[in-house]
Amino acid sequence: MKILNYINGSLVEPIGGDWLDNINPATGQKYGVLPDSRAVDIQEAVKAASAAFPEWSALTQAQRSNYLLKIADLIEANKDRLALAETNDNGKPLSLSQRMDIPRAADNFRFYATAALHLHSETYDMGEAGFNYVLNKPIGVAGLISPWNLPLYLFTWKIAPALAVGNTVVAKPSEITPATAFLLAELAIEAELPPGVLNIVFGTGVHAGQALVENPHVPVISFTGGTETGKTLAKTAAPMFKKLSLELGGKNPNIIFADCDYDLMLKTTVASSFTNQGQICLCGSRILVEKSLYSRFLSDFSQQVSAMKVGDPLEKETRVGAIVSQAQYEKVLKYLSLAREEGGKIETGGKPLYDVNERCAKGWFIAPTIITGLGPECRTNQEEIFGPVVTIQSFETEEEALTLANDSKYGLSATVWTNDLKRAHRVSAKIESGIIWVNCWLVRDLRTPFGGMKASGIGREGGFEALKFFTETRNICIQL
Ligand code: NDP
Repeated sequence: MKILNYINGSLVEPIGGDWLDNINPATGQKYGVLPDSRAVDIQEAVKAASAAFPEWSALTQAQRSNYLLKIADLIEANKDRLALAETNDNGKPLSLSQRMDIPRAADNFRFYATAALHLHSETYDMGEAGFNYVLNKPIGVAGLISPWNLPLYLFTWKIAPALAVGNTVVAKPSEITPATAFLLAELAIEAELPPGVLNIVFGTGVHAGQALVENPHVPVISFTGGTETGKTLAKTAAPMFKKLSLELGGKNPNIIFADCDYDLMLKTTVASSFTNQGQICLCGSRILVEKSLYSRFLSDFSQQVSAMKVGDPLEKETRVGAIVSQAQYEKVLKYLSLAREEGGKIETGGKPLYDVNERCAKGWFIAPTIITGLGPECRTNQEEIFGPVVTIQSFETEEEALTLANDSKYGLSATVWTNDLKRAHRVSAKIESGIIWVNCWLVRDLRTPFGGMKASGIGREGGFEALKFFTETRNICIQL
């Protein structure tokens, strides 16, 4: 597969002629190339997006929505092709891509196409003094940067609201998982999206990403990725007074009280720990269990986790696929060594797997891992590993559970398991996280705001928040 930039409605090679390899993490083999774009490519894309802005922003809301609905239809019509491309890029089980990532990418376009129809602004009657109203206007060219873990889902989560309210877009997906973004470009062409409205530029963060954030004609940036990268972006964007949204890392607590619905909790905790090889920013990586339940939970959880099928992502029964890249694989293995050095006990997993099958003999697989015996201050319990690794700690009181849960620089998400209604509300309100699930995980109405606290980010995406983020207000006061 030869991936090309999508600029001004055409698929084009990078101006400098530099290319990067696209590697399938399940096989460790190169299977294509993608542009190693530089500032000049970004400049071309920004020029095209700037030129397209007046016309696109002047369309009626219904006209813009119709384009987005067409793209949603095309994603659905091409779901098998997209799912396979994502699996080959990312290493996740094909079944997961088919069930979750691709349908949700179509949902993003459909949701924002229709939500934007209902965006309204405020008007106040001030009596004899006149009246005051607020217009929500698109900002201009939006710069969108997304990570590799949910490649098409997170990419479209930004593109759809930005376009829906009249911005034009220059978007850079992670260089590690570019294939679905390229297929999206082909679908945008098929949907006859006007040239320049959406531009997709492939390349590394340091070259293409940084050039996008630095470009003075891109007044709004939405970024999802690691906390350290977020810091770098903020340093560049803040002195340029750009509007900035940062969705960053997490180290999410999963608090289990003894009075929970045990079977549901156990099944969901296996999923919330290891779905997508633990590479979802919302996975619960710190499991906190009430002491009276600890032994039973550890035994059942270890048994279920060690029985999970780690395998070729293309096989139906596979529940845990490959780690996304060699760099991420090595990072996770380093954390496993660190956990051992810190005195942690590996209950199950803790090692790479080389015997998945012949096709995957050189792929990057790690057995789902449970670690016990580490205190909250250990680096293993403080730093984001972003792989198939969880730790378990115990607590005796609700206060202790909250102290452990909040003992983190991150504040992205949390899960609480209890059948005590009052406790569910009480604990949820005290957890320092942007989203809290009670007796469930990953369930969310797209109309609600999404985003983290503390080092997990600034700004809110989702629902009307995202539509508002991609607009700026004009506060108009008229005296009659
Ligand atoms: P990175 O921060 O490494 O990269 C994210 C994106 O930013 C990539 O496209 C990357 O390009 C680009 N980038 C890197 N450096 C720069 C730069 N200086 N300027 C502009 N862009 C840059 O994150 P990962 O891709 O490793 O993704 C994993 C991280 O994302 C985890 O920390 C995870 O928690 C977080 N995440 C957060 C979510 C949330 O909603 N809060 C959701 C999903 C993931 P390149 O690929 O070339 O490095």
